Amino acid sequence: MAATQPDFSTLAQAGVAGLAPYEPGKPIETLRREYGVREVVKLASNENPLGPSPRAAEAAAEAAREAHRYPDGNGFELKAAIGARHQIDPACVTLGNGSNDVLALIAQTFLAPGRQAVFSAHAFAVYPIVTQAAGAQASVVAAQPSSAHQPYGHDLPAMAAAAESGAHVAFVANPNNPTGTWEGEEALRQFLDRVPLSVIAVVDEAYFEYGAAEAGYPDASRWLDAYPNLVVTRSFSKVHGLAGLRVGYALSHPDVAELMNRVRQPFNCSAPAQAAAVASLADAEFLERSVALNSEQRELLRAGLEGLGYRPLPSAGNFLTFDAGPEAANLNEQLLRRGVIVRPVDAYQLPNHLRVSVGTPAENRTFLGALAAAAGGGAA
Ligand SMILES: *Cc1c(COP(=O)(O)O)cnc(C)c1O
Repeated sequence: MAATQPDFSTLAQAGVAGLAPYEPGKPIETLRREYGVREVVKLASNENPLGPSPRAAEAAAEAAREAHRYPDGNGFELKAAIGARHQIDPACVTLGNGSNDVLALIAQTFLAPGRQAVFSAHAFAVYPIVTQAAGAQASVVAAQPSSAHQPYGHDLPAMAAAAESGAHVAFVANPNNPTGTWEGEEALRQFLDRVPLSVIAVVDEAYFEYGAAEAGYPDASRWLDAYPNLVVTRSFSKVHGLAGLRVGYALSHPDVAELMNRVRQPFNCSAPAQAAAVASLADAEFLERSVALNSEQRELLRAGLEGLGYRPLPSAGNFLTFDAGPEAANLNEQLLRRGVIVRPVDAYQLPNHLRVSVGTPAENRTFLGALAAAAGGGAA
């Protein structure tokens, strides 16, 4: 006879009991299975449509031949490469299993019940998750209005004010996902000038290389000396095309890095991931080509969307988010039936918006064609 099962959610710690899990983009195989479509275009997770650098893929494959060995838990070579890239002491680098892992390390290190983390409405979903998982309180700051220069973007002065009232961590995504909105150098410096040194100020630069194509977009990693409470996070999942290998990092004061490394799992960054990241950092040509393709295709995608009557938000990333009106969920369904996966962003309190990643020219054309047909009510 089966024992009566307890309500496990009452056993979980309070933060976890009330947590809504992260919803990832629909995987290609899932769509094939659920909708019976063969040809699938996935523009849902802001991946590099060119794939990884061939050199990075080769380095990962080579490392896999030594898969019976534990990776270098201190990531000596990768930290040295990152240090050289940023002209910074490797002791300032914390490696993560993706930059999500680094965001979780920040929360584990600096948040706890009774503490507060500040972030914007419509900001990256991982900030509320790691905050709540640590049992801390979220101080969610209202975003800029839809009529602003950066619609739904961060209101940095309001976030600084929230940080001043006793928070322990503040998260800024630059650019933000899913809105694509971004902060210029002056606004971000004014924010950091105001945030008390007792608050860890996180600037999430997952899309840095794309953002850097915009005039006035700042590289916060240069300001670590000026702001000892600053933590800059970077990812290999976006322009480097290594999302499947999971590798990201934080740059911070070495004392902050030392604290985060106390809670870091000793082998959180696999050997193939480390090897691929080192090779990718050295492949400047691949990165340039990726950014150039994105700049060109993002503007074609924007023009295509505008041609269909949509108004995408400004974006310094490799994606565009647009208001599809109250029919957004239905439109998404129509796109899925046509084999096109984009990202609904209702979980970000943007129920009428859809986010589409910038793909290859062919993928973008397929998306725009499917969107035109779906919006026109044509049968799939
Ligand atoms: C994609 C993304 C990340 C990166 O996540 P990884 O864990 O490195 O794959 C971090 N921040 C934002 C805002 C993102 O959109």
